[in-house]
Amino acid sequence: MTHLGAHTGQGEENGLQTLVDSLDEVTDARPDAPVSVCLETTAGQGTSLGWAFEHIAWVLSKLSAPGRFRTCFDTCHVFAAGYDLVTRDTYEKTWREFDKVVGIRYLAVMHLNDAKKELGSRVDRHAHIGKGEIGEGAFRRIMQDPELRGVPKILETPESETMHAVNLSLLRELAARTG
Ligand SMILES: [Zn+2]
Repeated sequence: MTHLGAHTGQGEENGLQTLVDSLDEVTDARPDAPVSVCLETTAGQGTSLGWAFEHIAWVLSKLSAPGRFRTCFDTCHVFAAGYDLVTRDTYEKTWREFDKVVGIRYLAVMHLNDAKKELGSRVDRHAHIGKGEIGEGAFRRIMQDPELRGVPKILETPESETMHAVNLSLLRELAARTG
């Protein structure tokens, strides 16, 4: 799993090309490794890359071994990057966009986080499930979405020692909730 780094002023395309060169070096050095690398969606703080689905699609299109790569969809990061998940309509629109631009076949794993900051803030602050700007409804849809049933989901919420059990039981409850 990796974020896509930051261009630190050299511009998005130059930054993404540097990333492609680095990832090619990794796969060239280990041509037979039975390991996939996941490119994670990011919030887009500062000059960081990977917040737009187009960045991930661009990287996948340039890699010399794209079959060695998958993606991680982080709910907080995607929301902070400006992709809404809150209502049924916006949830579906965001997934349609992800599928059109990146391709759902590249989705390997999800990070589940609510977001402390508003839609499009480009600020990466994780909140407990249902206690941030994304809200319970989106997590109910995720937990009940047949398209996502086989996709591993990892909690990345704060205060793991005391709060992971609470967040996990809420996700289980949302998976079973009707109406
Ligand atoms: Zn994450």
